[in-house]
Amino acid sequence: MDARQNLKKYFGYDSFREGQEKIINAILAGRDALAIMPTGAGKSICYQIPAVMLPGITLVISPLISLMMDQVKALNEAGIRAAFINSSLSEAQIAKALQLAEKGVYKIIYVAPERLESHYFIHFAHRADISMITVDEAHCISQWGQDFRPSYLKIIEFVKSLPKRPIVSAFTATATQEVKTDILCVLNLIEPEVVVTGFDRKNLFYSVEKRKDKDRFVIEYVEKHAKESGIIYCATRKNVDNLFTLLSKQGVSVTRYHAGLDKEERKRNQDDFIYDRTPVIVATNAFGMGIDKSNVRYVIHYNMPQSMESYYQEAGRAGRDGETSQCILLFSAQDIMINKFLLENKDFSDLSSEEIEIIKQRDARRLKIMENYCRTNGCLRNTILDYFGEKVIKPCDNCGNCMKDYKKIDMTEEAKQVINCVAETRGRYGLTIVLGTLIGANRARLKEVGTNRYKTYGALKKYSESQIRELIYELINQGYLIQSEDQYGVLKLGDISKLQDENTHVILKVTEEKIQEAGKLKGK
Ligand code: ADP
Ligand code: ZN
Repeated sequence: MDARQNLKKYFGYDSFREGQEKIINAILAGRDALAIMPTGAGKSICYQIPAVMLPGITLVISPLISLMMDQVKALNEAGIRAAFINSSLSEAQIAKALQLAEKGVYKIIYVAPERLESHYFIHFAHRADISMITVDEAHCISQWGQDFRPSYLKIIEFVKSLPKRPIVSAFTATATQEVKTDILCVLNLIEPEVVVTGFDRKNLFYSVEKRKDKDRFVIEYVEKHAKESGIIYCATRKNVDNLFTLLSKQGVSVTRYHAGLDKEERKRNQDDFIYDRTPVIVATNAFGMGIDKSNVRYVIHYNMPQSMESYYQEAGRAGRDGETSQCILLFSAQDIMINKFLLENKDFSDLSSEEIEIIKQRDARRLKIMENYCRTNGCLRNTILDYFGEKVIKPCDNCGNCMKDYKKIDMTEEAKQVINCVAETRGRYGLTIVLGTLIGANRARLKEVGTNRYKTYGALKKYSESQIRELIYELINQGYLIQSEDQYGVLKLGDISKLQDENTHVILKVTEEKIQEAGKLKGK
């Protein structure tokens, strides 16, 4: 039976989706493989079908116990013999499972990465016929990945210790260039087939709204789209409750979801939303895992999320049916403070101080990238795709920024002043001080550090602070300035040689904050 017949037999599907067949064929030909596909694209089948067809056992290394259990249950129901081995089982249960595994009862065994260090397990692995090691959520191997897991670094030692090297395949939904390189290197994949399927969701219209009155925006939006199904994500439970009450008072048919509600209510509210009894749900990011509702017409983020990975995944719950849908992010500077607070208070128990430091740096960096998404005047879709490592050339002409009306102003002379100022600071200060200095603000802090005596002090005093801020962001985007990625955000000179050419201009696009009318959407 070939791969396609197995797809039909075990999963009931007639054809493969983009990328699946290429990965499966490579594995069946005995090659290593790396697949980078967005969530929901169908990664599991890419290793499950080869697992059925290869002679021995496939070990799937997966970080989440709950995910393992779901997968194993589904596989057994489909008629594929599978098991999991993790800390939810007793010693006796594990011994029993390994005994059966050694006899060849299972085709697929899910294990947590920690298990690879267990003496029992290694003993078993050395005697069993292992055809393939599959690394699920492979980005966990990278310190740049969303969930770096030190135990993932043990995988390669484990593979090396086996008497015969099995095929190694890796899967992830999040892969920037850095993560991808890390996976390939750390896992030591040998001439792998690498498949990256598109992250572009063409039917999603991304926009960022900088509104003082977020509540009003949400009420108006929801009322205008009364019959449509939508998710509104908030950063905190308190925000969820407030917004939920507000919308309810307005007579909107709305429900809510967050970890503070008891299990029964969560289930009930979730079902009300999924089965279209309540079109709108206000939720924290606890909502959405494993939910496959096709007709969600909009996802509004009441607060900026903490990373592009989260944003892509949450916004991506809109438009699963391929119909035009909106992903709106309501941004305010306060969101940065809220997120910093949430990150500061993250639970770091069980981690060494070294690991905590790594994770904190990474979190700060990811937050900064998300902030840049909110502040950019460039194409939003391209900002996302670029982040996930997809090459982009032209603006999409179909996102909030591409469709905004801009006035273009030549700010080349002003840009040179900014650069002079940063040169004067000798790369010691952050945005606030540079900004204050340029507009000639009368602030104690500037006197303290002495920038009020700079040549550039007050050089741009006819501009507002926000205009110069935009300019500085543009200069960072274009690489003339570099901002450190730690919490200080110190500004240093980048490559400014281009500016010496008199044909180079720095053009700032100035927006006249226009409301994106739904009717302006392309294809409507
Ligand atoms: P991922 O791991 O990439 O997030 P999953 O493997 O969980 O995605 O698959 C998402 C959904 O798509 C599952 O319900 C799966 O059964 C379905 N699916 C996968 N491959 C196909 C296919 N070739 N045709 C139809 N549905 C598929
Ligand atoms: Zn665009």
